[in-house]
Amino acid sequence: MVSAETLASVTAHKDPDIFITSLLQDIGILILFLSDTVSYTEVLDKKRISGQSTAEVEREKFGFDHTEVGYELFKSWNLPESITEPIRYHHHKPPETTYSEAINILNIADKISSIYHGTRSNLKSKEVYQKLKGDYGLESSQTAELIDTIGEKSVELLELYSIDPGEMKPFSQIMLDANDELGKLNYSYEQIVLELTQAKQNAEQLAIHLKEANDKLRELTFRDGLTGLYNHMYFQDFFENEIQKSIRYKSPVSLLLLDIDHFKSINDRHGHPTGDHVLIEASKVLVKLVRHCDIVARYGGEEFAIVLPETGTVGAKVLAQRLRRGIEQQQFQYDKNTITITMSVGISSTDMNSIEISRKNLISKSDQALYTAKQEGRNRVVVSTDNTKVALCTGTDR
Ligand code: GH3
Ligand code: MG
Ligand code: MG
Repeated sequence: MVSAETLASVTAHKDPDIFITSLLQDIGILILFLSDTVSYTEVLDKKRISGQSTAEVEREKFGFDHTEVGYELFKSWNLPESITEPIRYHHHKPPETTYSEAINILNIADKISSIYHGTRSNLKSKEVYQKLKGDYGLESSQTAELIDTIGEKSVELLELYSIDPGEMKPFSQIMLDANDELGKLNYSYEQIVLELTQAKQNAEQLAIHLKEANDKLRELTFRDGLTGLYNHMYFQDFFENEIQKSIRYKSPVSLLLLDIDHFKSINDRHGHPTGDHVLIEASKVLVKLVRHCDIVARYGGEEFAIVLPETGTVGAKVLAQRLRRGIEQQQFQYDKNTITITMSVGISSTDMNSIEISRKNLISKSDQALYTAKQEGRNRVVVSTDNTKVALCTGTDR
């Protein structure tokens, strides 16, 4: 009622009934509350929780709202239309009405009082600012002043009747509190975003670590622990694969089996750690001397297997000699000792005449050739022949 009267003066609305109309506008709420307190308390609760307007919740609950109740009552009391019509429509103005101004004022007055008494004050004040600007051209400073005046007048009036104004605060304080709340909300939103970003980064980091650990684990399963070369199992898989490719595409593949000569005597003379060192260093020499596509594996003990994809007997022999010479020339230093070694090499290849191409058969042929190399004096390369006889690579190049 204070709101409506103050508004009317500011908007220059000449209506002698506005004070009484606004006093009675919400009488429907009182009637509904008194006739069914339990149900109406539920309406008030829902309004507080949902943020819906009182009239909306009433319509959901009862099928009608307090404006209709007030209107019916005052109509039955034969109050003039200038009072009953604005009360009836103060929440939903019809397109055609003679009481448009009064309805408007009651509607805005209702919103202003709910800034002081309801929740979501900043949202409601925004609506009031927009409406007063749109309908009456009021600037925001004027609107703020108006709302403040209404607050002050209300407190004065309540004090006049010795009514406790309760938690009624000045409008400016309400806005400060609302901004404060909004700030806290923003803060927690930023906090959530920050925490989510952090969690996402942690998850990505974890995924990278897992992938690395996984790669390392996979690598470990096919690597030899001492030399770091591929292990026996990996060699078997890889070689099988190359044999199948060779059959399918009719491309050659060769297998070298290499064995260090008299390796036992190195262990016996210099000790096992020296033997280990020689194995590690000899492995590096082999890896350095093969092509990128060839794989060097530790076949077992001081024996090595090298798979040469896309390579026939001729190419395999050239490479084997290169390896034999490379090992022969290398000086291994350990524990103040200089050690030199030699190697024997057995070769088999899928391009040999009428050979039965299988992994097992080629391993067997290379092994036989290696055995021959040992028998023929070691430090030499021997190529297997297709009829299981072996061809010796003799002469200066062995
Ligand atoms: P051959 O010329 O006939 O091949 O003679 P060899 O002494 O090299 O062959 P033999 O099979 O008699 O001995 C192989 C030695 O290799 C015996 C074994 O102790 C040694 N050996 C196998 N694996 C390792 C290893 O990981 N580290 C060391 N230090 N020695 C090893
Ligand atoms: Mg051996
Ligand atoms: Mg040996």
